[in-house]
Amino acid sequence: MFSYQQPDAAGHFGPYGGSFASETLTHALTELREAYARYQNDPEFLAEFHSELKHFVGRPSPVYHAARMSREMGGAQIYLKREDLNHTGAHKINNVIGQAMLARRMGKPRIIAETGAGQHGVATATICARYGLECVVYMGSEDVKRQSPNVYRMKLLGATVVPVDSGSRTLKDALNEAMRDWVAHVDDTFYIIGTVAGPHPYPMMVRDFQSVIGTECLEQMPAMLAEQKASTQQPDAVIACVGGGSNAMGIFHPYIPYEKTRLIGVEAAGEGLDSGKHSASLQRGSSGVLHGNRTFILQDENGQITETHSISAGLDYPGVGPEHAWLQEIGRAEYVGITDAEALAAFHYLCRTEGIIPALESSHAVAYAMKLAKTMPADQSILVNLSGRGDKDIGTVADLSGADVYDRPSMRGLGVKGGPAA
Ligand SMILES: *Cc1c(COP(=O)(O)O)cnc(C)c1O
Repeated sequence: MFSYQQPDAAGHFGPYGGSFASETLTHALTELREAYARYQNDPEFLAEFHSELKHFVGRPSPVYHAARMSREMGGAQIYLKREDLNHTGAHKINNVIGQAMLARRMGKPRIIAETGAGQHGVATATICARYGLECVVYMGSEDVKRQSPNVYRMKLLGATVVPVDSGSRTLKDALNEAMRDWVAHVDDTFYIIGTVAGPHPYPMMVRDFQSVIGTECLEQMPAMLAEQKASTQQPDAVIACVGGGSNAMGIFHPYIPYEKTRLIGVEAAGEGLDSGKHSASLQRGSSGVLHGNRTFILQDENGQITETHSISAGLDYPGVGPEHAWLQEIGRAEYVGITDAEALAAFHYLCRTEGIIPALESSHAVAYAMKLAKTMPADQSILVNLSGRGDKDIGTVADLSGADVYDRPSMRGLGVKGGPAA
């Protein structure tokens, strides 16, 4: 078994992570670290967390054998961890429940959050409605336009959505604005970060809450694989898309000691890893400090954050969780890229082959699984974290396919076998 004990007491994953925050936040971060240390192994806290996950979220989410897709790829068996079936449609809710429970115990009645695709904002607004907490969500004005159904969802749930007009008007700008709000309101406000980023203890805490995904898989996979008469108890590879990296850390972390299982993170290669239009921080970035931690970021020679691009708003982030930078450095996880076009093709393929409409983010993981499966024998297996459902993306996909949302999307030019002619 691979031995792994991260982070250290100050939140370092090797040279990454840590806490780079203004003095005004020092007290709030200390308070949060102490609260998390007190509750993280508290039986009553954990019992409530798991009860919420069961009754409100609908966990455990199933693992599904994508038999048709596996057969057509002609290689390894592909399994999907169905985080898309969670309440609110993605993995984000797992983490939000944990943090909202902490906020209540810390006596903080006001919640703030940042959101890109809107999924984290919706999950946060949902839990705030359920617990009667005030909710303010910061969202780049470009994302407000791209994800209008989610903006309306948040409003229906009683949240205030604040469009952010600075910078590229996307996730990183929303994060900056949320940090600023937190500095101004530390006394009564809890900042729920939506991924494994931010200053310590966020990367560790979000990872711990999301680890329910991988922990369930460790129990579910042996039975699934026995049914397929596979030669192993656990999958040969686990694949997840990486934006900030929370769904990936959630499924990877429990598998880290299982050395025979390859861990593969899929970044958004956008228009190509060498096009300058992508969000592949781990593959094309370098070490730097962003949003309170040291990690791999996309920056120019002056340390300025560069513009990122992805077809999926949830992967469009110039940084990545520090633990991924560490896992890449020690070689325990590998990181690859999938382009917009490949993700879109996988999106259509999964819709038509398995009857599942995946999020565009998750489609990146599916696309890589389809490539990898072909290179592996049929008695091997791949587990894909299907991080979310694609309802929020149908407008984007229809636009890109030149179709009306209510029309049948054109598959022309996507290279998808068996697509309609027009
Ligand atoms: C937000 C989101 C992502 C990206 O965030 P991670 O922290 O990298 O998991 C991926 N998939 C879906 C469906 C999302 O909503």
